[in-house]
Amino acid sequence: MALIVQKYGGTSVGDTERMKNVARRCLAAQKAGHDVVVVVSAMSGETNRLLKLVAQITDRPDEREQDVVVATGEQVSIGLVAMAIQAQGGKAVSFLGHQVRIVTDSTFSKARIKSIDAEPIRAALKQGKIVVVAGFQGVDETGSVTTLGRGGSDTTGVALAAALKADACEIYTDVDGVYTTDPNVCPAAKKLDRITYEEMLELASLGAKVLQIRSVEFAMKYKVPLWVKSSFTEDPGTLVCEEDASMEDVLVRGVAYDRNEAKITVVGVPDQPGTAAKLFGALDAKHIVVDLIVQNPSRDGRTDVTFTVAKSDFAKAHEVVKQAAQDVGATGLEVDDAIAKVSIVGVGMRNHSGVAAKMFQTLSQEGINIQLISTSEIKTSCVIHTKYTELAVRALHTAFGLDAPAPVQANPTVSEVDALQGQKA
Ligand code: ADP
Ligand code: ASP
Ligand code: MG
Repeated sequence: MALIVQKYGGTSVGDTERMKNVARRCLAAQKAGHDVVVVVSAMSGETNRLLKLVAQITDRPDEREQDVVVATGEQVSIGLVAMAIQAQGGKAVSFLGHQVRIVTDSTFSKARIKSIDAEPIRAALKQGKIVVVAGFQGVDETGSVTTLGRGGSDTTGVALAAALKADACEIYTDVDGVYTTDPNVCPAAKKLDRITYEEMLELASLGAKVLQIRSVEFAMKYKVPLWVKSSFTEDPGTLVCEEDASMEDVLVRGVAYDRNEAKITVVGVPDQPGTAAKLFGALDAKHIVVDLIVQNPSRDGRTDVTFTVAKSDFAKAHEVVKQAAQDVGATGLEVDDAIAKVSIVGVGMRNHSGVAAKMFQTLSQEGINIQLISTSEIKTSCVIHTKYTELAVRALHTAFGLDAPAPVQANPTVSEVDALQGQKA
């Protein structure tokens, strides 16, 4: 008998029929002898709908109150799924984040989990119940509702699995595993049987939204065996796990893209000690996370500094940098939100040279201009114009030999050939 945490995403609970399907799956796992904890997201589109309502009231929402609103989507889902389980003859109880004391810090809209009280869950499991927990939400030390950032139900699932020392955490979504790239962008993407925590961490942080990055961090830290599966098929899915020697053979495991960043260039920054500290200190003071940073060599005592931030922080960052640029005596400011970051990831890159060069050649062959470059041990990223995202992803996927073999076309029969020729005639 094992303890399994299953997390179902928005599409998997997108309507009541799908919720009944989730209930059937949970009951099947229980029938197989397991204790089952289910984490559910809001119904697909619901979180966006709630955010739109907020935007209709104000374009500068109070972050605490915004979390009060957007956390409600998951409440509807847990109640309905618990009832769907009961309607099929099972025993179930639902819990909101604060009822199982998913305690977070107070960074509204992107809070981090600090602790979980697993006791109420254990008690309900002992009574033979399936426990249905709201994803995405927590509570801070002062009792305010918080949310964990978009895609945060993944993190609720893995954090619960870690707190309960579950035997496995299964993330059910609308694709049947982790692919070499987003299968909705690249039809030739291949499903992976296994991927290392480290590679998944990079892919998630570089835009592959199949798992929220924090969920992978938790899984890696607490060694939670993490599966990504489809709620619509019986496919075994992908296992996210520790690296073994055979996994280093692959140079590039996957390609990711991110269209949610914007670029800011501070022009003519005086090349003096302390200016970068002032610019980025001002951003940090407003909790704005900076991603890529590039500083050009200085000419005539001045230089340009370019960096990227999340699109959601763009307006705030623009405002902050306008002031900071003036303070440090820069001559101008340029902004561009029509960018995308495309990245290649693989643990095999550690021991091989020439991978980055091949990436640049591939983009150049497609006529795509590279605006910024960033590398680390197991990834290389390029910032390009957003309109070339799909083209770049597909070209890189092919160049690094990741394409699935094309389906073999069956030879047409004589009668099919005759029918076709008849049509043409
Ligand atoms: P859920 O609502 O179940 O949490 P998400 O929409 O958050 O689902 O994540 C699943 C989506 O992630 C897929 O539909 C796919 O478009 C996208 N995706 C991006 N990169 C990958 C990848 N490498 N493998 C699988 N899916 C990916
Ligand atoms: N409902 C939240 C979102 O749409 C959390 C999640 O689905 O993981 O981002
Ligand atoms: Mg998700």
